[in-house]
Amino acid sequence: MTIVPPPAKVLVTGANGYIAIWVVRLLLEQGYSVRGTVRSAGKGEYLTEYFGKLGFGDKLEIVVVEDITKEGAFDQAVQGVDAIEHTASPFITSLVNLSDFVDPAVRGTVGVLQSAIKHAPNVKRIVITSSCGAVMAPPPQPTIFSETDWNTSSQMDIDKNGVNADPLSKYRVSKTLAEKAAWEFYEKHKGSIGWELVVINPPFVFGPPIQEITGGPESLNTSLKPFYDILVGDGPKTEKLLSTSNSWVDVRDTALSHILAIQKEAAAGERIIVCGGAYLWQEWFDAANTIQPYPLPNHPPAKGMPGITAPYVIQYNTAKADKLLGIRYKTKAETIRDTLEIFAAKGW
Ligand code: NDP
Repeated sequence: MTIVPPPAKVLVTGANGYIAIWVVRLLLEQGYSVRGTVRSAGKGEYLTEYFGKLGFGDKLEIVVVEDITKEGAFDQAVQGVDAIEHTASPFITSLVNLSDFVDPAVRGTVGVLQSAIKHAPNVKRIVITSSCGAVMAPPPQPTIFSETDWNTSSQMDIDKNGVNADPLSKYRVSKTLAEKAAWEFYEKHKGSIGWELVVINPPFVFGPPIQEITGGPESLNTSLKPFYDILVGDGPKTEKLLSTSNSWVDVRDTALSHILAIQKEAAAGERIIVCGGAYLWQEWFDAANTIQPYPLPNHPPAKGMPGITAPYVIQYNTAKADKLLGIRYKTKAETIRDTLEIFAAKGW
């Protein structure tokens, strides 16, 4: 049984974001109607135009929610929807204060849940985009994390270094607190509500950007910018960098997990890590060198140091996502090819 089948109406918050626009696209392609929130009317224009060209003009509605930290911010946006995909949250490493991350992350998350309780009686599923940043902080030795893990060490960085802590620690704390707040809210209310919570935890998300990009590569979203800098731009290609590892997932697989989360009965009440695998940066260079023809003739791929090995330090057990969602994850070769093709289309 599909819990929220098309042509249901789905609210997507932060619809103009890198991940969210793919969520909107997959929803529309599967026959859903979408209401997308953005922070200003201008940010909605690109979405209207982009999806209008794809033939979905009458299936997409854009609403402005200027400040997601305000009480009742989503009260109108949730009305009449059958499911909610809450993605809006700052992933901007130039923010300085912890509160710049935490307030929108936590208040936005709790706010959308509160609004759903008050004003969206038809809602059956609410999906929150959390992060593997709520699962782990980079460990000193190779570790395989799972849904039972929670990031506790980023808070230690804040406690020790205050405003000078690593911006990624501030971001990870915001995601941890927001996710915990969502689960707490759900546990408190689940006996009296008609919807189930699903939380999706992706690691670094790479893959083709279809969102509005107002400038050059420097204006890419936070996870894709280093991907461009290292693989195409002047970023470092030292042995240290090439042997640095993390885990990743394609943006389209991330978006698909959000759609499956409103469809699959068994996803109800689950925290789910969606991860395409671990990587060394060298492996992205290896993958780039297999693409024929190479999409960026002016930036032929560096070779790096083929054959270099290093342990994968951050890995995830994806058994739960495999069982509940069953995604066939994109390979590095697919992801890098499709991403570089978008860079090429922009003339970068
Ligand atoms: P983007 O920066 O592309 O999108 C973020 C979205 O959130 C935008 O719509 C943005 O609006 C909105 N937003 C940011 N700050 C605020 C704020 N203070 N108040 C209201 N809205 C805000 O990032 P991603 O698409 O990468 O991230 C989307 C979600 O996925 C986030 O929750 C992020 O934590 C999570 N995530 C991302 C990963 C990644 O590697 N990309 C990995 C794991 C999780 P505006 O454009 O107006 O700023």
